Amino acid sequence: MEKDERLAILRGLPKVELHRHLEGSLRLSTMLELGRRHGVDLPLDNEEALARVVCFQADEPRTLANFLKKFHSGWYRSYADVERVTTEAIEDAAAQGVVHLELRFSPEHLVRTSRLQPQGVMEAVCEAGRAAAAEASISLRFLVTLTRERYDFSFWRMVVDAAADLSPEGLAGVDLAGDEFAHPNQEYQKIFQRVKDTKVLGISIHAGEGTSAEQVLSAVKLLGADRIGHGTKAVEDESVMEMLAERGIVLEMCPISNYQTGCVDELTRHPLPELDRAGVVTCINADDPSIQRSSLNDEYDVAVTRWTYTLQDLLRLEQNAVGGAFLPDEQREAVLARVEKGYAESKDQGL
Ligand SMILES: [Zn+2]
Repeated sequence: MEKDERLAILRGLPKVELHRHLEGSLRLSTMLELGRRHGVDLPLDNEEALARVVCFQADEPRTLANFLKKFHSGWYRSYADVERVTTEAIEDAAAQGVVHLELRFSPEHLVRTSRLQPQGVMEAVCEAGRAAAAEASISLRFLVTLTRERYDFSFWRMVVDAAADLSPEGLAGVDLAGDEFAHPNQEYQKIFQRVKDTKVLGISIHAGEGTSAEQVLSAVKLLGADRIGHGTKAVEDESVMEMLAERGIVLEMCPISNYQTGCVDELTRHPLPELDRAGVVTCINADDPSIQRSSLNDEYDVAVTRWTYTLQDLLRLEQNAVGGAFLPDEQREAVLARVEKGYAESKDQGL
């Protein structure tokens, strides 16, 4: 079967996506337009010229540091800009078949080159997001991202408290991202204790992406992670895998991102299947589709072609994601019913 044909079938399958960054989901056309409007100092002659700077290139070093260089914050100069990119990110996810999305964003990143206020940005994302999700008939939650190398306790505490206040608007969790080589989990215990104390926010920690299984362990033990972003290195330690499986901690895995950051050498040898076989709860996510220049269904295509995953395997991953979603039980049941119905209807299409 040709790739396009597979992608068309995959698009029709209902998906639950727990790990997508707003800042990594901007359309190239939108970056070009906003960049020109705001006089951003990047090559803006056309989409391809811009893509060479803001998207991963096949001939570049596959390192996390190189990948992180692709994020720029000059696009956001007004709340309308923030609302626009939020709306488009949700439209694009829905077009991939996503029926429940958890979109994460960094208030600090979104206000870095503007006079926007972090609370205002958080409200703008929630408001635009809710409208876009209603329009697309999908379920939606948000996480705020804190970036390790920009630790600032009083700013972070303000973001966490504002996130808790916005929980009725769909803000459901806090994420820790950034350079985990230079900034291990131990530095962030105090702030994540505060997150726990809110009792309304879940915790997702980028951990063991390129470092070690030990970082995955400490994300759970020290920071109280409900879910782990990536966690690819967990596969290197059986006791960590056992702990994850026992506690039902969901690993939000993003194969193409893991390849481009050099955390895995080959997509065929991505650790998801081994973790899955060991009983660790895993799911598939797009991470930063515009930076990767790939779609969520390209990630699913990896599962089908490189790991020979069947529809039944993919359904199991969706059920895993539903289980880890930051949703109240009633809504979780509704999402699960929608996913299972969609799979039942597409049973005979084959892949
Ligand atoms: Zn991520």
